[in-house]
Amino acid sequence: MQNGTYPQDLHIHTIYSRDDSAVVPAQTPELIARVRHAELIGISDHFEHFADNEYDHYVHHLRALDLLVGTEVDGAPSVGFAASLAFDYYIYHCRDRAEDYRGVERLLATGRPVIIAHPNALDTKLDCLPPECLVEINNRYIWRCDWMQFYAPFTHRFRFVISSDAHQPQWLGQSVARRAALELGIEESLLVNELGKVAVTDARTGDQ
Ligand SMILES: [Zn+2]
Ligand SMILES: [Zn+2]
Repeated sequence: MQNGTYPQDLHIHTIYSRDDSAVVPAQTPELIARVRHAELIGISDHFEHFADNEYDHYVHHLRALDLLVGTEVDGAPSVGFAASLAFDYYIYHCRDRAEDYRGVERLLATGRPVIIAHPNALDTKLDCLPPECLVEINNRYIWRCDWMQFYAPFTHRFRFVISSDAHQPQWLGQSVARRAALELGIEESLLVNELGKVAVTDARTGDQ
């Protein structure tokens, strides 16, 4: 892989995922921006780890590095608070329970793209999700299931994004996820098209 090979990577963790034991102090947003392994890079730290008291700092820090501001939301209990704060997009843990599926609707109502995180790892039932969702194929988890069996019935129902879910810099890869997408005949959906011009402009100027 060469720098800039990937069109996008929207699922990356940094030091703002404070309670994640895999993240080390050297993994700053600056390091991710410096590595530049994808053309469009979004940081998606765990919402529950920073939102309480570092949201403003997080947004300004990422904007200054020209990184998209995402977040990874851990199910229904966090949805209300997460939807009340502005992000470029949400990555969402949707376990197989009614309140988590309702949380998807609530996040979609913000008008921001909602990416369903590694559904094969959380037993998310894809037929319970609205087709407006983006479904993630990520390098960290895709190989832990029979991807043809799990995803093939849904390749025409959803749009898909491919991500690393990197918790350390050397995880900034997508080779297995891209192989799975190729076998599934999936054409990746690019977030720049999802966001639209107005949304991107608002986000870049910090108007929330
Ligand atoms: Zn996750
Ligand atoms: Zn993650």
